[in-house]
Amino acid sequence: GDSYDEECDYLFKAVMIGDSAVGKSNLLSRFARDEFRLDSKPTIGVEFAYRNIRVGDKLIKAQIWDTAGQERYAYRFRAITSSYYRGALGALLVYDITRRATFENTKKWLRELREFCSSCMAIVLVGNKSDLTHSREVNEEEGKILAETEGLYFMETSAMQNLNVEDAFLQMINQIHQTTI
Ligand code: GDP
Ligand code: MG
Repeated sequence: GDSYDEECDYLFKAVMIGDSAVGKSNLLSRFARDEFRLDSKPTIGVEFAYRNIRVGDKLIKAQIWDTAGQERYAYRFRAITSSYYRGALGALLVYDITRRATFENTKKWLRELREFCSSCMAIVLVGNKSDLTHSREVNEEEGKILAETEGLYFMETSAMQNLNVEDAFLQMINQIHQTTI
């Protein structure tokens, strides 16, 4: 079950990163609560959501942090950045397949991850908004190649249509489970 206070065997932290408006908050709300919002409501303050996942006979509670609408690196303080990443074991690095700049910027996000999150061992590169086929600016192949080069997992998702959302999170969670337990 997904109840908040169910007894769990393991608790771990993961983070959502990527440019503004790529769909991070909607991916998380889809995964945690099966909700989607058409209007963009920027995340204010650090938010997080929980979901319990059963892997084998263990119950894992994933605590997933979402950015505070402070996606623009230049505006953030290092102290905030490091507390955001502290102790995280996984990350979903999200771009928007309809905005090439968000894909190019994943390299900056990776640099930040590697600087601030030495514990992040499971990183999934996520090309979101796969439902918007007519405005696509990044091919699926490009995402795959980047992921291979950087040693990441890769998936295209649609938070709106609920495509691959569960898979993207579970890939990260399974990987953390395999490497830590
Ligand atoms: P964040 O700033 O990265 O947290 O992005 P949001 O989750 O707030 O989403 C930004 C905008 O993109 C909102 O208007 C969402 O409704 C929209 N959006 C998010 N995911 C998808 C998706 O998979 N498909 C489409 N078409 N729109 C999406
Ligand atoms: Mg958000």
